[in-house]
Amino acid sequence: MKAAVLHEVNTPLVIEDVSLPKPGPREVLIRTFCGTCDNCTTGRTVLCTDTTVKMLPGASSRLSWARSEKLNQFLNLSSFAEQMLVHENAIVKIRKDMPLELAALIGCGVITGYGAVVNTAKVAPGETVVVIGCGGVGMAAINGAQIAGAGRIIAVDTNPAKLQLATKLGATDIVDPRNGDVVQQVRDLTNGGVHHSFEVLGRKETAEQAFAMLVPGGTATIVGMIPFGQKIELHGFDFLRERKIQGSSMGSNHFRVDMPRLIEFYMRGKLHLEDWISAKLKLSEINEGFAAMKAGKTVRSVIVFDA
Ligand SMILES: [Zn+2]
Repeated sequence: MKAAVLHEVNTPLVIEDVSLPKPGPREVLIRTFCGTCDNCTTGRTVLCTDTTVKMLPGASSRLSWARSEKLNQFLNLSSFAEQMLVHENAIVKIRKDMPLELAALIGCGVITGYGAVVNTAKVAPGETVVVIGCGGVGMAAINGAQIAGAGRIIAVDTNPAKLQLATKLGATDIVDPRNGDVVQQVRDLTNGGVHHSFEVLGRKETAEQAFAMLVPGGTATIVGMIPFGQKIELHGFDFLRERKIQGSSMGSNHFRVDMPRLIEFYMRGKLHLEDWISAKLKLSEINEGFAAMKAGKTVRSVIVFDA
């Protein structure tokens, strides 16, 4: 099969011929869940603690090619290839009339943003929401807040095109940080602050802003990946007013429940998956896709494989 291979960091990917072995019984190959540890049996499969179902980074050796060097799999997964070998726990059946290039968006970015709002933060109807960062995951959080029935949904980004799209997906208000202090702008819009803030950039400054814009009792949810070793600073006094801050991983998803539900939302016109797709590419155009993403021109480019 064909797969996009990264030979060296900061070089373009190269399309190579690689092969996979036939699946063995109950294959364990990607990051998945065991179904039996404390977290799995209490419904938090995304936080599975059983290391035997997850290979350590770089440990997977299922892919092979004509060369002698080892072929590593990114996150033991490597989805930029025509085929994947996955554990049975990583599979869910979906309805046949769901377009696959749209379903492909749900599994990572959409379920992460939507799940942060619906599963992790459990936004209640009428509550106010801010989403800081309107990339693919941020857009999913905005769409998720609309599905959850949030009262006000405020999108924060510096890219006017993304703010425009955010309003199409459910944002009721937009805030551009270039127009002044973000926290003050949100407070002015909401008469003092919001019930829920979602940080979807992974930066110290915006994580601190997310906490600072909460009403007493409000919750900040950090979805973005803050660099390892980076600390964030909060006013200790704010905890006396029951403000909370929490992390969200993969939208705290329950994969086999959330995936079919999100597809139903799409089929009923509530989840606007078409709006995420800025371009459809062939596998051989993958480097153009990355270039457009780095330039901030796209929300998502989807690789459509030859049938
Ligand atoms: Zn587990």
